[in-house]
Amino acid sequence: MTELIYTTDSYLTEIEAKVVEIRDEGVILDRTIAYPQGGGQPSDKAKFLLDGEEIEITKIRKIGTDVIHKIDGTVNAGDELTVKIDWEYRFKLIRHHTALHVLSAIVWDKYKAKVTGGTIYHNKARLDFDMMEFNKEIAQNIIDDVNETLKTDHKVEVSFITREELENNPELIRTKVSLIPESVKTIRLVKIGDIDIQADGGLHVRSTREIGIMGLQSISNKGKGRKRINIELYD
Ligand SMILES: [Zn+2]
Repeated sequence: MTELIYTTDSYLTEIEAKVVEIRDEGVILDRTIAYPQGGGQPSDKAKFLLDGEEIEITKIRKIGTDVIHKIDGTVNAGDELTVKIDWEYRFKLIRHHTALHVLSAIVWDKYKAKVTGGTIYHNKARLDFDMMEFNKEIAQNIIDDVNETLKTDHKVEVSFITREELENNPELIRTKVSLIPESVKTIRLVKIGDIDIQADGGLHVRSTREIGIMGLQSISNKGKGRKRINIELYD
């Protein structure tokens, strides 16, 4: 079982860790800061530093309770090494991730429309909403409201609740279908000031002040229940 340091600290760029197991799929450490793909957020770019050498991590996946680091190189069980992430890339991803939560909060507030899909990149992001009426003007109004909201410094906080508490508070799931596997017993909550709180496994900035300004890139209609808003961020 890997200690998932990124779930409580998304700003740590380096950490010392120990190799506990090596499988065909890759290396398992006692703890890691390298985010595996999930929740619409891509994997980090990261590497190991061992005895003055850099070992590229080519794939980061979570299987069960372990994070598997596929590497371009060799390490041995028991090795103590440093995990280092590409912070510039991580910071872009988490800015976009928190931005999408603010976007989904505004859409929920105004239209009571849930999220039906979403993808985060380092330079753009998109969300699909279960909306009936949708056009460019509506989307631009939503983005304007997001930017109005982003003028205030809303702190982002992470906390944990039990699955039972989540089931008693269904409003904590903003996606149309719950994406949390039944096996997950501890639920992570991401709260953005007083504007949004959601069950979420992904990584976020500390404050909405770090997001910048949101721009509407384009919209598209992907069918019933999938009205897509493509956004980008400016400093
Ligand atoms: Zn999220």
